[in-house]
Amino acid sequence: MSRVPFAFEASTKPPRDGSKFALRFWANRHARGMEITYSIVESVLRGLAPVFKLIGYERMEKPMVAVEKTIKSALFDCRMCGQCILSSTGMSCPMNCPKNLRNGPCGGVRANGNCEVYAEMPCVWVKGWEGSRLMKEGDKIMDVQKPIDHRLKGRSSWLAVSQGAHE
Ligand code: SF4
Repeated sequence: MSRVPFAFEASTKPPRDGSKFALRFWANRHARGMEITYSIVESVLRGLAPVFKLIGYERMEKPMVAVEKTIKSALFDCRMCGQCILSSTGMSCPMNCPKNLRNGPCGGVRANGNCEVYAEMPCVWVKGWEGSRLMKEGDKIMDVQKPIDHRLKGRSSWLAVSQGAHE
């Protein structure tokens, strides 16, 4: 039976089987280290804002998307939603949830902590909760997230951060 990919699923990246090694689960287990790394990246991005402004944010979009996508796809199975909330979700990308839920899990999490839709995949939000417990600011997982803005899909979150948005 063919599977229908969900809105933010890249056709080349089907849901992860938790039994196989994936950097996404590694990054999640090292959420505190990722949190520290991200705060450094955030400072650098904000510091570079005058340079990006000089070059032009629109001109920076394409190269920045290429860099961000390469790094975050490898580390988090990022789907380039353009409005990153990794630091509020225990370093588990919510766009890997087949229902694209950004405010916690649905009611269908299996007893073993796996996804209701893909039985072999650990629930993104179970992993997010575990990751958040390792983080200094992990309680941000309690924050209510805004609805996803589909117009930002494919755009660089990092450029948005350099302009003052929070990742
Ligand atoms: S929240 Fe969005 S930008 Fe962040 S890792 Fe997930 S898809 Fe990528």
